[in-house]
Amino acid sequence: MAGEPQSDCLFCKIVVGEVPATIVRETDTTVAFRDINPQAPTHVLVIPKAHHRDAAALAAADPVLAADVLREAGEVAAQEKTDTTGYRIIFNTGTGAGQTVFHAHAHVLGGRGFEWPPG
Ligand code: 5GP
Ligand code: ZN
Repeated sequence: MAGEPQSDCLFCKIVVGEVPATIVRETDTTVAFRDINPQAPTHVLVIPKAHHRDAAALAAADPVLAADVLREAGEVAAQEKTDTTGYRIIFNTGTGAGQTVFHAHAHVLGGRGFEWPPG
């Protein structure tokens, strides 16, 4: 069911502390932690504590929670001091776009320049 913890989900396990992570921010509804394979000096994942498979499903099921994730992405960028130089918020959606963990998450990337279009 949408929003319910999934026993086979890596990020649900991070939410409850079953899998360790370097947490940089936490709210009642979200957790932000460093990506294990960083692609930029700042690479933080912001997730809702509730399980939703991707960003669109999250927004459809719980728009307030989706906004919580976006606001926290901005807070992470400010905390990491990448908000003045610019940063990216990325939601890979579907395997073809590189999604590997099917628990909605925003990648917050900063601390270097970025090209457009993305690869
Ligand atoms: P996706 O490919 O689904 O957009 O992003 C999943 C991200 O989760 C990847 O960037 C990957 O490096 C990260 N990741 C995978 N396993 C772990 C883990 O156990 N801990 C942390 N902190 N990040 C992980
Ligand atoms: Zn999950």
